[in-house]
Amino acid sequence: MKKFLTALCLFALVSGIAVTAVACTDTQENGHSHVYGDWTVETESTLFEDGKEYRVCTAEDCPDADKGREERALEADGKTNALFDYFTYTATTCQKGDEGIVLNKNTGNNSGGATYFSKDASVKNYAWDGAETTLSFTLDLSVFTQENDFTAFVLAFNQESDASYVFVDEIRIGIIKTADGFLFNELTGIDHANVQNTIAAVKGEGAKSFTGNTPKVSFTFAYDAETKTLSYTLSVAGQSIENTKTPSADIVGLRSLWNAQLNKDGVELYDLVKD
Ligand SMILES: [Zn+2]
Repeated sequence: MKKFLTALCLFALVSGIAVTAVACTDTQENGHSHVYGDWTVETESTLFEDGKEYRVCTAEDCPDADKGREERALEADGKTNALFDYFTYTATTCQKGDEGIVLNKNTGNNSGGATYFSKDASVKNYAWDGAETTLSFTLDLSVFTQENDFTAFVLAFNQESDASYVFVDEIRIGIIKTADGFLFNELTGIDHANVQNTIAAVKGEGAKSFTGNTPKVSFTFAYDAETKTLSYTLSVAGQSIENTKTPSADIVGLRSLWNAQLNKDGVELYDLVKD
């Protein structure tokens, strides 16, 4: 086509036809070069869903009906450090990291960063129909350099009560540094008044070891309203612990993901994804 355009331009010149409307460049088949403006957001990305943005040609004489429209995806906020804006925290500082949120030391009651899966922390429910779902994230544990450096994450679920959403149950993962790697385990309880007890529980029966200080952590869960059973798999660095529990009321949604305990500053959480 390029050859044809060139030939057409030459023909126009030699035959004396006005060529002002035909810029003889080879940028487009019609000889027009698009002049792009700024990208415009068409669909905002959300925590788990990609958004979309577009740009179009700003030339007044652009001959293309779609103005040479170009589109590109905006990464879901959970995959960028916009994740920080979905977290809330009290009694603990957190910072926006290069890739996600930097969690700092929290060993007191109700401290530590948490996300309600929304930028609006007053909306404490993320609708969920009980179908098997996986929430995963990556942790940078490179600040865990000493034995018993420790953190715990809690995924909480809601019931509906008097037309509002309230906590009904939760599942928990504890991760601890050992002499030659890490251990993780399900935590059946968190004793905020005694971190040593919690540390002992992570190291106890059922503990699994892993190495590498950027593990992928995931909660896979499904709720069967017929049997009133929450089935779940806790995975860290490719190893899993499976279990079930029977909440005291039907689960209707996710409540929060909470960094319930951390005894060292500077663990970064990033790539929060829902599958
Ligand atoms: Zn154009």
